[in-house]
Amino acid sequence: MSVRWFAAIVLACVAPIMMLASDEQGPHWGYGRDDGPPHWASLDPDWATCATGRAQSPVDLARAEEVDIDAPARNYGPTSLEIAHHEHVVDVLDNGHTIQVDYDAGSTLTVSGRVYELQQYHFHAPSEHTVDGRAYPMEMHLVHRSTQGELVVMGVFIEEGAHNPAFEPVWSNFPTAAGEQRHLEHVEIDIDDLLPTQSRHFRYEGSLTTPPCSEGVRWFVLAEPVRLSDEQIRTFTDIFSHNNRPTQPTNGRTILLGDPLDADGSEPDGS
Ligand SMILES: [Zn+2]
Repeated sequence: MSVRWFAAIVLACVAPIMMLASDEQGPHWGYGRDDGPPHWASLDPDWATCATGRAQSPVDLARAEEVDIDAPARNYGPTSLEIAHHEHVVDVLDNGHTIQVDYDAGSTLTVSGRVYELQQYHFHAPSEHTVDGRAYPMEMHLVHRSTQGELVVMGVFIEEGAHNPAFEPVWSNFPTAAGEQRHLEHVEIDIDDLLPTQSRHFRYEGSLTTPPCSEGVRWFVLAEPVRLSDEQIRTFTDIFSHNNRPTQPTNGRTILLGDPLDADGSEPDGS
């Protein structure tokens, strides 16, 4: 076989695999100068909403309207912990986006009678949402999905304080390399232990804060932060120091400030 034929056969076999791989992973994106938030919309036509969307997240939580509205009811159970250093593209650069913890089925958030199942939670540093222009050192996002595919994300601010032992099962098991996934059958963790016990919440209609920036996401951001020690915060920021999208214009959206979450899992009154 001639070298040319051999090359043609190899190309014919390998090219579709390469295309398949890039289709599955999508284009490379990140938080850097060349791949960061201002560029997301131009990296993929499917991500145009990142630039053209009128209801994007995060936002500055300011001038919130205090209202007497139904609080969501949370009913979180413990799960065996599956933790993944979420990696987007195979690349020699450090282009991981966050530490993500996948959650077992069965933990739910109920909003006005509709049930959303907790899928995973992950972290940003510094916070993506701000309150009256002020950012927190970190923000945790709990991503919930209904059986119809609708998304509800709960944001939890993290500020510096005393050492927080509730986070240690996650914090002591951070993957050491991008792309690494650890399944920890023996570790039980209850998400309730990571949340403030009583907290009012901001709510508004927004989007995913990462490509494809899809809208129609209901946001609940707890007003009361949880605390981690300076050392615990640094454990995360040593890996991801700027994985936050800047705040987006509200474009007239109303931000509501509602009652504390109902933590006993029962339906709130009047829903
Ligand atoms: Zn997030």
